[in-house]
Amino acid sequence: MASDPNCIFCKIAAGAIPSRKVHEDDEILAFHDIAPWAPVHFLLIPKEHIASLANAEPRHEALLGRMMALAPKLALEQGCEPYPAGGFRVMVNTGAHGGQEVHHLHLHVMGGPRPWAKG
Ligand code: 5GP
Ligand code: ZN
Repeated sequence: MASDPNCIFCKIAAGAIPSRKVHEDDEILAFHDIAPWAPVHFLLIPKEHIASLANAEPRHEALLGRMMALAPKLALEQGCEPYPAGGFRVMVNTGAHGGQEVHHLHLHVMGGPRPWAKG
């Protein structure tokens, strides 16, 4: 599986940097964001190093689908209230204009009662 030795999320995926885990399976890790915008704010990453959504390839389609399908399940488990009164935000910052700071593909999942610290 592709990994980048200089990538902070690859290090988190490998357990070399600790994180507060929300979910882990063979292909996907979810962990709490270190600087949350909202009462619930976690990140979903592929364990494989994919630099951004713009770098995803056709072979990643099933993986991307699994990540999206996990988001609502984990959101509820982490305390987001049910749709439609509750719900959550999924955000995938991509590239400089998209506001991406960590260049390893990640889905932000944010929820919980407003106001939020950001967003
Ligand atoms: P981006 O701006 O690339 O979409 O978001 C990167 C996110 O990663 C930010 O929300 C930031 O707080 C989070 N982050 C950066 N470094 C770490 C870290 O070492 N651990 C955790 N848990 N989150 C991090
Ligand atoms: Zn990486």
